[in-house]
Amino acid sequence: MDTPGFSALDFNHLLNEEIKAGFKEFNNFECPYQDCLHINEKECLIKKEVQLGNILPSRYQTYKNLILKKGN
Ligand SMILES: [Zn+2]
Repeated sequence: MDTPGFSALDFNHLLNEEIKAGFKEFNNFECPYQDCLHINEKECLIKKEVQLGNILPSRYQTYKNLILKKGN
């Protein structure tokens, strides 16, 4: 595949970054994965912090809905 320009994948990645940028509290925790979506990743720190109560579950739920709804 050598489609020049803006691929659907890039666009998707950009959307993810934008959604993540809206959840600044996630940045207080350093996820071991670069580029982590904090959804299905096994060792995701964000998911752990939600369980520990350091991130509001409702916020995480909203985040998850946004990521999943745009059809990852
Ligand atoms: Zn993560």
